[in-house]
Amino acid sequence: MTLYADLHRHLGGALHPRIIYKFLQRQDHKVLSYFPDYDGFYNWFTRPCRTLEEFVKIHSLVEELQSLEHLPYFCLRLCRGAYTFENLQYLELRYNPFFRTDHDLPTPKRLGQMNLIVEVITANLRPAEYPITVKQILCFDRRLPKNINEAILKVAQDNLGPVVGVDLAGPEINTEKTEEWIKLMARARASGLKTTCHLGETSVDNVDPRYFSILDRIGHGIHIPLAKPEYLKELAKRQITLEVCPTSYRQTGVLKDFSDLRTVFARCKDAGVAVAVCTDNPGRNPAPCTLPGEYERLIDHDVIDFGDLKEIQNEGFRSAFGFVGSARH
Ligand SMILES: [Zn+2]
Repeated sequence: MTLYADLHRHLGGALHPRIIYKFLQRQDHKVLSYFPDYDGFYNWFTRPCRTLEEFVKIHSLVEELQSLEHLPYFCLRLCRGAYTFENLQYLELRYNPFFRTDHDLPTPKRLGQMNLIVEVITANLRPAEYPITVKQILCFDRRLPKNINEAILKVAQDNLGPVVGVDLAGPEINTEKTEEWIKLMARARASGLKTTCHLGETSVDNVDPRYFSILDRIGHGIHIPLAKPEYLKELAKRQITLEVCPTSYRQTGVLKDFSDLRTVFARCKDAGVAVAVCTDNPGRNPAPCTLPGEYERLIDHDVIDFGDLKEIQNEGFRSAFGFVGSARH
């Protein structure tokens, strides 16, 4: 049995909609007044969005559900699903700890709660019956002020080990803060954390080459080969891997068809830039969306050849931030 590694998956988008719906029922949550039956909820939750902003709004709803007391419930279910239905040997799960703190508390208290959030997640990502290794990436957010992103960095540094890296997420806005975020990433790297950053997802506008000197991987980056292929040489030289999440681009309205990815894979291959295929928010995609399913879709739409498969699968392990041992094939 082939086992896989997924390097780009958000805690807020990792869960099957059935699990979320059952949770809402248990809580008798007010959102159920809009969705008296599961089908209605499923269609709303997994529908393609016109823009990334629209997509992120539903994501925020799930983040609020994943509060301290309920995190064990969600962590167990995502680990067992990833191992049982996707054959994942290794997973890097990313999330913003601040968004999971108690929204009713004042900001300083919320910042103080972040460490506990990471500790609870760490304790619940090791279910005894499912031998999957899950490492964490903490996300900064483009919508948050500098002091909160700096507090997230501190929590990542204090939890180095279970936390292997940092990411910059959120809608692709506020490019005037690029310098601030690059400095934050550089500090993360200097303290032993690995770095990735959501870049070039909806367009090439926020891809600033200054990022390349402090990144180990790029989340998405698909508009680099599409719109600025001249940057690929630099990525290859610095051995920066692109995390490409095929179905996600259709759900966020970024690409119309999988075949649009042919150019991405072909240009990266020619330039020697590594690509890891990942899932981003599999719970938000129409079922079944699994990592093996993403590979199959790429072959099905002639984006990659079957012969490329092994190499790309191995890239998931090679580009991992915290994988030790050997891939089981
Ligand atoms: Zn993402």
